[in-house]
Amino acid sequence: MAKDNLTAVLHGIEDMRLEQRPIPVIGDDEVLLAMDSVGICGSDVHYLKEGRIGDFILTKPMVIGHEAAGVVAKLGKKVKNLKVGDRVAIEPGVPCRYCDLCKQGKYSLCADMVFCATPPYDGNLTRYYKHAADFCFKLPDHVSMEEGALLEPLSVGVHACRRAGVGLGSRVLILGAGPIGLVTLLVAQSMGASEILITDLVQQRLDVAKELGATHTLLLKRDQSAEEVAEIVRRTMTAQPDKSIDCCGAESSARLAIFSTVSGGVVVIVGMGAPEVKLPLINALAREVDIRGVFRYCNDYASALALVASGKVNVKRLVTHHFDIKDTDKAFETSRKGLGGAIKVMIHVQPRNTNN
Ligand code: NAD
Ligand code: ZN
Repeated sequence: MAKDNLTAVLHGIEDMRLEQRPIPVIGDDEVLLAMDSVGICGSDVHYLKEGRIGDFILTKPMVIGHEAAGVVAKLGKKVKNLKVGDRVAIEPGVPCRYCDLCKQGKYSLCADMVFCATPPYDGNLTRYYKHAADFCFKLPDHVSMEEGALLEPLSVGVHACRRAGVGLGSRVLILGAGPIGLVTLLVAQSMGASEILITDLVQQRLDVAKELGATHTLLLKRDQSAEEVAEIVRRTMTAQPDKSIDCCGAESSARLAIFSTVSGGVVVIVGMGAPEVKLPLINALAREVDIRGVFRYCNDYASALALVASGKVNVKRLVTHHFDIKDTDKAFETSRKGLGGAIKVMIHVQPRNTNN
């Protein structure tokens, strides 16, 4: 095995370094993975810019990256579900498996979650990385490594649509057409939504949403009131949306979601913005509009993989840029500035398979 374990390590604000790290030693239930593709997520960029997200604070160097796929290079003694050479998508959060929440199946809420590239835990933008074998999902041959990496954001979309209860004939409002809004759009379509309106402040993002099959797009202007826009949403769709999913995190967006949603409908908040915001709570309660949070995903990876493997969802359009791990700096620059219409920037640890 090669000694080279080039790794992208975030040392502090605006201080990302490529350095050699020891190849990890695996436990009995773990696999060693030769990493292949790692997507850049908004949260990776946020840690680079701010050194923290809420209460998760970078206090020591941390390997970045969590949207990833790799190839099994070595098996722990007890691993039965995988073999060497398997190509896998990595679900990046491993819970304790013992607490009440884990036992109830709500493992994403486990207080002892070990999540890639969430301080203090290392991520996987590295050549060799170890992971719990049961949080690795074997990819069928026709699913590419890039698609494997994209299962991470796609799983957020699956979880959001499940929390919203999207189903046959749903009218869905999605707020924000970034990667998360776009995957939510793709999942809502596959779950049977009949009408989907997606909003953004940037026309280029809406153009992609339209290309992916959004029924309506709505370009928002910063000076419009939420009540005003809710009226436009109502007039644009055949009726008020019964599910509204915020995928941008702005206060104005959560307000718009509540005002727009039909009485008895559901608002799901995926976007993470300011810790406290002003919401029309009485409007929501008087019309029994449920407000639900989404935190990552929980038992959603297998469904995300099934959507991609069956061809029901095509995530490939989301990837706009490719970089080698040696050009991690350029990759982050492209992602944070949205250069060249960047949506999802993919970093390749192995030479890219251009058949992807
Ligand atoms: P992004 O920043 O790439 O995309 C956000 C999009 O929303 C952009 O296109 C932006 O132009 C648009 N936007 C900004 N303000 C808007 C507004 N008022 N109305 C409509 N659109 C607006 O981010 P992303 O990677 O797509 O992630 C979206 C959000 O989801 C972020 O807040 C992120 O932190 C959050 N997120 C949450 C979870 C979770 O588990 N809850 C997981 C992943 C991402
Ligand atoms: Zn637990």
